[in-house]
Parts: sequence; structure tokens; C-alpha cells
Amino acid sequence: MLIGIDDTDSPQGMCTTYLGAVLARRLIHKHMQVKEARLVRLNPNVTWKTRGNAAIALYVDGDAERAFEIACATVEELADFSCGNTNPGVVVTDGRLDPAFYYKAVTDFCEIEEAVSILDTAGARYRGYKNRRGLIGATAAVASELKDRTSEILVYRQPEHWGTPREVDRDSLFAAESATFPHTWDTVDTVNDVVVCVPHTPDPVLFGIRGENPAWVMAARQHIMSEPSGIEQIYVTNQGTDAHLLPGKIGQLVELLSYFVPGVVIGIPMTKVGGHVSFIMKDGNFEVQCMAYEPTKNFRHIIRQLVPGDEVIAVGSFKKGSINLEKIRIVSLARPTITRPPFCTSCNKRMTSNGKGKGYKCKKCDGRAMEPEVQEISRTLETGWYEVPPTARRHLAKPLCRGEPEFQP
Ligand code: ATP
Repeated sequence: MLIGIDDTDSPQGMCTTYLGAVLARRLIHKHMQVKEARLVRLNPNVTWKTRGNAAIALYVDGDAERAFEIACATVEELADFSCGNTNPGVVVTDGRLDPAFYYKAVTDFCEIEEAVSILDTAGARYRGYKNRRGLIGATAAVASELKDRTSEILVYRQPEHWGTPREVDRDSLFAAESATFPHTWDTVDTVNDVVVCVPHTPDPVLFGIRGENPAWVMAARQHIMSEPSGIEQIYVTNQGTDAHLLPGKIGQLVELLSYFVPGVVIGIPMTKVGGHVSFIMKDGNFEVQCMAYEPTKNFRHIIRQLVPGDEVIAVGSFKKGSINLEKIRIVSLARPTITRPPFCTSCNKRMTSNGKGKGYKCKKCDGRAMEPEVQEISRTLETGWYEVPPTARRHLAKPLCRGEPEFQP
């Protein structure tokens, strides 16, 4: 059977991944076999999410009715029902559902009634609490099909420490990264000298290590020294796979969906108040603004070097009419030039313009020339893929250390 859970936490605490880890242990205690624990991220632009729009699926062998009772009891005990925005969902199915619902939930928006109708058709056991919105994520999690997958080990805090400052040895995190990168990523951001894997929110997570497979995340975890930890759970996930991205075309982008969008830069990038960098790109008659926000740090240096005529593929979410960049491919570089009056061939002095279309004149010897001097501006920027740093990376975004996106316009 598959057990799906979602929407159990609030900004004040809890975390659906923690609840999933506790549930897995309770099922094992009741002699059920937990074959896989899955952490499924869904559309990152869903506005009613608490943090990272995560849902959980457990693949379990055992009695489905008993498992459903234990799952509901665990949610009723641990979910933060006091928060108005916490609307848990619990789903138990005999097998996988049509993955179409997962693909919609990770790239687009779904309705509660869509999830309910899929569950009814499948004869699933399910319970939606309060406004039942959690049934969307819980259903998507059990319907998930992970063609590409990564792992995360989540190390949780002992409950008596929840809400207090976390103690994780900084140097050991950098050591874990240097021993296991590129097979693990986003533990720290070495360029910006920032720890990435330790949250600052009052939830039960102490730290999480992301990587290619359970062996690599375990290898990194062994390096990390911290306060005494509580339970630890390795999840299979769609994190770091670009599962949220659709092929897009300027003029046809839908608000709050995420895309690969080809275009040609038509304006010099501008740095706005707050350090946010923007440029306009075009495809046919349609234009769109692309944004590299201040938290994307050094990524903005790449964006500032774009010039009109550069061909790019912008990658990110379309929000309030702009593409918020997660990555960019510079497909081809324009060869910008500057034109200046030529040097006089007799006196070697720079000539002056005679007016538009009237050529050039030497002020000293009155010599004439028609053609200007054309100079190519040299560029240090290179074609290829560029990405935001680990501090600014979204859960679903595939880091370039895992390989370049396969998208072809
Ligand atoms: P948690 O740790 O509790 O999972 P979170 O940041 O992952 O926190 P939730 O609290 O689960 O966010 O809130 C997300 C809500 O949005 C859930 O009720 C989920 O069912 C719903 N949801 C997720 N994806 C979609 C979607 N594509 N369309 C509509 N609703 C969605």
C-alpha cells in the first residue's frame, strides 16, 4: 500500500517530513514493512504552502485498514491543528495512482475535488481535516512517479530542544561538503561562506543533507557534529530534478508556473533598488522581464554582463509578469561594436563627425573620410549554463553538478 500525508505543519512548528518519519517507525513497530519513504515537493508557487510545499508517501507492506488508523492517529496527535492554514490530508491506496495528478500538482494547480474524485475512483481510504486541502498533496505524493530521483537524510532534533537555537558544528558541515560534493550538494555555500542545510525555523529538523543516493548522504552525514540528534530518516525525493519546469514561450506563460523560456536579450540589464537585476528578452513580437533578485548574489554578476542580441534560455517561475531566474543558459553571445570617428591618415589625429551621413573631417589638415572606425567590444562572458548559488536554490531546482538540463527549444 501507499500512504500519503500532507499539510500538517505551521510556521510555529512541526514538519510533515518529521510526522512521516514518526509514522514509519510506528508502522514498523506494528510489524509492517516500510519499503520506501518518499519526500515529494510540489508546485513551489502555491501561495498557501507553509515552507517548501512538501508531501510524504510511504510504501508499506501490511494491513491497510490498520495502517490508515495509525496514520490518522499520528496526524491527529502531531499536526498543528491550531494554525488556520493547516489542513491535513491522509490517503491510503492499494497501489500507485495515475501519475498525471502528480505531474499537475508539481507543475500547476489542483483542486481539492479533483483529488477526492481520484481517491473515490481508486477506492482509496482517505481523511481530509478542516478544509481538506492536504488531500491534494497527499494524493499527489502517492501518485508520484520519480523518473529522476535524489536522496535526503533528515536529521531531527530531540523534542526537548525544539524552538531553541540549533547547535551544529560549522566546520564539520564544510568538511562534509568537501568530502562528498558533487555527490551531495547544498550542505553549505562555499562561495558565499554560508551554511545552507540547517534551518532557522522552529520545526523539528536539525539539518538535512541532499545527494545522489542514500550512500552519499550517509557518507556526508558521518562528518557532521552537532547537538545530540533524535530520529533520522532517509527519503527518496524529487528534489534537485527540475520536476517543476515546463517548456515555455514568451507571450504564453501562465502566472505561478515555472518554465524553460528561450529568448533574445533586448535591453541592457539594470540594477534596481535593493540590488535586484533585471533585463528584458524577446521572442517574435513578445517580451518578458527576467529578474535575478538580490539573494541570488554572485549569479547577478553573470546577468549584468548580458547585452542586447545575446540568445538565452531563462529558467524560473513566472510571477507578477516576470521570470524569476533559477538558472540561465547563454546559448550565443552577440558581438557588440562601438563606432568612432577614424584617425586622419596624414596627421594621425582623431577626426570629428561632419554630421549624420556626411563622413568625418580632420580639424588640422582638413582631410576627409567616409567610414568610421568600428571596434568590437571584447566579452569575458562564456556560453553555457549558469545557476543561482546554493543559498538561493529552490528545493526542486536541479543543481548543475548533477548535469545540465536536457531542454531543447
Ligand atoms: P508541510 O511540511 O506541512 O508539508 P509545506 O510548506 O510543504 O508544509 P503545506 O503546509 O503542506 O506546505 O501546504 C501546502 C498545501 O498546498 C497543502 O494543503 C497541499 O495539499 C496544497 N498543494 C500542494 N500542491 C498544490 C497544487 N499544485 N495545487 C493546489 N494545492 C496544492
